[in-house]
Amino acid sequence: MPVAFFDNKQQHSSIRKELDEAVSAVADSGRFILGDNVKALEAEVAEYCGVKHGIGVASGTDAIHLALIACGIRPGDEVITPPFTFVATIEAICYIGAKPVFVDIDHKTFNLDVKKAQKKVGRKTKAILPVHLYGQTADMEPIIELAQKHGLKVVEDAAQSIGAEYRGRRACSMGDAGCLSFFPTKNLGCFGDGGMILTNDDEVAETSRVLRGHGSKTTYHYDMIGYNSRLDELQAAILRVKLRHLDGWTKARQRNAAAYDKALSQIMEVHRPFVEDGCTHVYNQYTIRAKNRNLLKDHLKEKGIGAMVYYPLSLHLHKAYQGLKYKFGDFPEAESAQEEVLSLPIFPELKPEQIAEVSQAINDFYLNI
Ligand SMILES: *Cc1c(COP(=O)(O)O)cnc(C)c1O
Repeated sequence: MPVAFFDNKQQHSSIRKELDEAVSAVADSGRFILGDNVKALEAEVAEYCGVKHGIGVASGTDAIHLALIACGIRPGDEVITPPFTFVATIEAICYIGAKPVFVDIDHKTFNLDVKKAQKKVGRKTKAILPVHLYGQTADMEPIIELAQKHGLKVVEDAAQSIGAEYRGRRACSMGDAGCLSFFPTKNLGCFGDGGMILTNDDEVAETSRVLRGHGSKTTYHYDMIGYNSRLDELQAAILRVKLRHLDGWTKARQRNAAAYDKALSQIMEVHRPFVEDGCTHVYNQYTIRAKNRNLLKDHLKEKGIGAMVYYPLSLHLHKAYQGLKYKFGDFPEAESAQEEVLSLPIFPELKPEQIAEVSQAINDFYLNI
């Protein structure tokens, strides 16, 4: 039986009635931009993350971009971030004319290695932008300690990690601002693009709100050069329905991960995801490190099993970012991760038989190679 890498159709059909009602209500209301649903969703997601303010924006990329501006990042400033992430993390820095300064990742968690960050803090450093990759937060306590020591802002890229906990605190609640994406493949995904800035800081919240709506506090009066970056009412209404089910879906992802952990435990060539003490993992991805990764991926494909490489090339090695003057060899952990990582199907509706089938296919591959 083929196993899709990702499938949101089952999820949506399971809540189809609720979704249809929410969409119809917005259609009937005639109000599509910045209405009651966006306002309510902002409050609900803020509460979910344990944060005072939520500001809905047009995408996760915009959330990072606007949060950085609201935190005072300006052209020429340096922002410390990992090179092994989705490109949006560093695009957001570059849009401002600021410079991403890469720090290698930790071998086990794939997140920023804060021990290596200290040396990269210089006169121009203004912020740290840790990424909570795959569903687990970066090691936030030492990151915040380092930031406080040097007067830096901390903006969390939590696009893949809504609800993930670090020593009892949720992603987006620890830095000066946190950023979510509602892209359809994220744990809380809408029917298009969407994102949110979360913050406990009243000023960062106010500036973010002004920035997303053309820089205006009062209609047709502009306090700063802003953007058109709003989350729309339809997406917000859909997200409000889905948020009610998020904890159940997260538990299903964690159950699926536990089933893989068990089924793959005897395969020496596979390293399963490592969950740091005191952290919860929400498994936006279940990412293994695998020997002969490319051959394994081909083998799974032949069996009709979807698997993806997030990410095949660390950002310091891309053509678009050659201006940053990095070269191969600069970030050995990111460079080894790009050769070894493989994400397996993990969506909540995956069935135990399917997990067994994927695991069996991996086992067969290493027995026969
Ligand atoms: C998805 C993602 C983003 C960007 O989100 P969009 O909503 O697609 O703009 C940023 N960072 C990471 C790590 C992501 O996975």
